[in-house]
Amino acid sequence: MTTDPTQVFRPGLLQGQVALITGGGTGIGFGIAELLAELGAHVVLASRKPEHLDPSVQSLLRRGWKASAVPVDVRDVEAVRAMVATVKAEQGRIDLLVNNAAGNFYVPSAEMSPNAWRSVLEIDLFGTFFCTQAVFPVMKEQGGGRVVSTSMTLHYRGWPLMAHATAAKAGIDALTRTLAVEWAPHNILVNAIAPGPIPTEGVRKAFAPPANSGVADVFAETEKKLDAHARRTIPLGRMGTPRDIANMVAFLASPAGDWITGGIFVIDGGEWLAKSAGWGTS
Ligand code: NAP
Repeated sequence: MTTDPTQVFRPGLLQGQVALITGGGTGIGFGIAELLAELGAHVVLASRKPEHLDPSVQSLLRRGWKASAVPVDVRDVEAVRAMVATVKAEQGRIDLLVNNAAGNFYVPSAEMSPNAWRSVLEIDLFGTFFCTQAVFPVMKEQGGGRVVSTSMTLHYRGWPLMAHATAAKAGIDALTRTLAVEWAPHNILVNAIAPGPIPTEGVRKAFAPPANSGVADVFAETEKKLDAHARRTIPLGRMGTPRDIANMVAFLASPAGDWITGGIFVIDGGEWLAKSAGWGTS
């Protein structure tokens, strides 16, 4: 039963599906979990911290939807394999993997420590590969499945102070295209989504720029300034919401996505194209 009057997907659309969402307890990942669960899927939220997972699972269950959690650090390949084994044992299948877990922060490239570089690459890129590789045998055995990985748009033009994240997300794009072709014979469809600015709590904390970096940060502005900035710089006139991103994931998970693989879908209100054209800068 849908509770959202603006819902465009039919109730029960994803009934019987099992969706595993890394970083599913917060921000965009939780927005994806809410929509998939509302459409009938059993959603499994996976990340490191119980304080992110438990309240989110409870919130889904309270609404009468199907949800569970499994702890994982996506940097740890053994933990990732254990996560997939747990989901398979408990739910019997995995129809959709959403690689959404990520870490990020601004740091000048010249001063970036090996640990900072390694940490973001390991969460964003290694984690995406480890999770995707781990679900492969499950999806192959059940006759197919879908993977949606979370990229971004900042690496299309380059983005100062984010060498680690832009490199990692460019790697996710490459991985998406490669695996789409390699695994198509197994009916495993591999796509990516590239959100524009979605002012989640995580992003607000992580994107506070280092003092004296000299780089303006839209997320460090006040709410009012953020909205004004969005109206000026995003052609569709507002920041995005987790639901904007979730809608694309639901579409890709549905039968409408049956012939879509290797795609990287930008969902950003036109932001990155407009920036290239100098929109809103005068
Ligand atoms: P967020 O709320 O901070 O979510 C990050 C999630 O990743 C958290 O749930 C966190 O949970 C999990 N996580 C971090 N490290 C992990 C690890 N080692 N193992 C397992 N899970 C881990 O961020 P968000 O804004 O919703 O972003 C979600 C995704 O969208 C990310 O891939 C991000 O790069 C992408 N994106 C966001 C924006 C935006 O403007 N928000 C724009 C473009 C792309 P735990 O702490 O419990 O582990």
